[in-house]
Amino acid sequence: MKISGFKQEKVLGEGSYGKVYKPRRLNDNQIYAIKAIDLNKLDYKEIEDAVNEIRLMASVTSPFIISFYEAFAVEDQKRLYIVTEYAKIGDLRHLIERRKLRNLPLQEEQIWQFLLEILEGLRILHSCGVVHRDLKSANILISAPDLVKIGDLGIATVLHNHKTSLSKEMAKTQIGTPLYLAPEIWKKCPYDQKCDMWSLGVLLYEMMTFTFPFLGRTQNELQRR
Ligand code: ADP
Ligand code: MG
Repeated sequence: MKISGFKQEKVLGEGSYGKVYKPRRLNDNQIYAIKAIDLNKLDYKEIEDAVNEIRLMASVTSPFIISFYEAFAVEDQKRLYIVTEYAKIGDLRHLIERRKLRNLPLQEEQIWQFLLEILEGLRILHSCGVVHRDLKSANILISAPDLVKIGDLGIATVLHNHKTSLSKEMAKTQIGTPLYLAPEIWKKCPYDQKCDMWSLGVLLYEMMTFTFPFLGRTQNELQRR
């Protein structure tokens, strides 16, 4: 990652369209998270989606949603950069993996806290007509031991144009995990904000048990369950 005004410190994650970096901004000496999107790999529709993510992120503010700061394209690198707030403890998926290895369940208090914070973040999104559609532990970021935030609005959508994005939704879950997908999405039926509540239920189950309520050896098996 080479952008003027920022000094890269490390790679935080590997996204589906590029990497997420942790740079320090030189003028305020603060740490940010920057998602780099490789525009060479995207078709026109996908670039529109990336712009859509930026627009959605910029339009919502909540202590429980990752804050958006700025976005810019660097022409000669053919890359789009999205600068957001940095969550210093990382994502909830990693926390769960670490705890699972050490056989150390999350405390009930902490689960309640996380659940209520995510719910409040969702309330804000939903009241703006936004459906997240990819709620899962890897997209929940931890800023402090008792503070989580919803991140990755990459396939979020404003409800009135949700029909056009159905096939993309399924395409993206081929890359990621379908474990959190609501039945109406599997069935390719119309859906609304309730699909996020389904995913939140799966996430709650995952926080409590470190496993998933519906498992299958194949996508078909999972879909049936
Ligand atoms: P993708 O759309 O490719 O899934 P994400 O926005 O979910 O991209 O980022 C991928 C990973 O990078 C996350 O699961 C997380 O581990 C890390 N990450 C992303 N944003 C941040 C952030 N603001 N602070 C800390 N880590 C982050
Ligand atoms: Mg993600």
